Amino acid sequence: MKFTNAGEIDQIILRIEQGLEEHAQWVKLWHSKAICNLAFPESYLDSGAATNCEFSDWFQSQKSSEWLHQLDHDSITAVHKTMHDEAAILSRKIMSSEKVKEQDYYQFMNSEWSFSHQLQALKDKVSRLQISFDPLTGIFNRQAMMPILLQEHAYLVRDKKTCCLAMADLDHFKKVNDTHGHPAGDVVLKSVAEFFRTNLRPYDALFRYGGEEFLFCLPNTDLKSAAKLLNRLRVDLNKRPIRIKDNTVLTISISIGITQMLSGKPVDESIDNADVALYEAKKAGRNRVSEFMP
Ligand code: GH3
Ligand code: MG
Ligand code: MG
Repeated sequence: MKFTNAGEIDQIILRIEQGLEEHAQWVKLWHSKAICNLAFPESYLDSGAATNCEFSDWFQSQKSSEWLHQLDHDSITAVHKTMHDEAAILSRKIMSSEKVKEQDYYQFMNSEWSFSHQLQALKDKVSRLQISFDPLTGIFNRQAMMPILLQEHAYLVRDKKTCCLAMADLDHFKKVNDTHGHPAGDVVLKSVAEFFRTNLRPYDALFRYGGEEFLFCLPNTDLKSAAKLLNRLRVDLNKRPIRIKDNTVLTISISIGITQMLSGKPVDESIDNADVALYEAKKAGRNRVSEFMP
């Protein structure tokens, strides 16, 4: 999985935008020095000029990251180096009053265009991944859910492992909206999603299934372990005060229904079964975990 929440994507987009801005400023400064016949900064003349920028440090640190395709990494690294090398050669010529060939200048401008263009395309590619995430909570949305669940189902068929699904629903959440207003309800939803996201294991997946419903996918987990894990989360969430306004703090309880994904059962049916178990948890008094009974 490339990203597990929208915040990670935002961070990458920000770094790419900073790279674009850093180089837009760099080109502007390069032209002002060249046209006004002023001394170029040492960092522009250096044969290792491409390693002198902040973008380079960050981009190289991402080399083996899952989000960055090797081909994009190699291509942008190469054009970035070419652009800085060409600028360094031109700068040195200008400094020593050597004639600059028009075609060398155009080559530099082409490299600069190509670098900005490729970096912008990478930003667009990463931005498109936002479609899988819920804007309010930053976790996976329902649209992203089915392909991930189908993949987990395929793994459990292949590896003969266990995987559980759980449906969680906030208790009496309508009262939060009615008493404190919809924005306060949004704060609660964000806080609950953040709590789940940061307290699950790295290989678990969390989805915003609907308004105040969350679906968990817990690979390599049997029903007993899933119940234990989710009960712990339920209790911990309930102990954790959520500040919705300056002087208002709420505690939230959740009901959870769990079921095991089975190799012979379609994923849709397991989701329905988790929902049936959730209904049982509500009926039995809320603030509890119920297992699906076939
Ligand atoms: P129960 O314990 O039976 O689940 O009671 P409930 O009040 O939680 O259930 P109900 O389905 O009646 O209410 C769910 C509420 O969730 C109603 C809806 O306005 C609210 N809701 C759904 N999505 C959002 C959202 O994005 N933001 C806010 N603030 N509220 C939302
Ligand atoms: Mg509810
Ligand atoms: Mg509900």
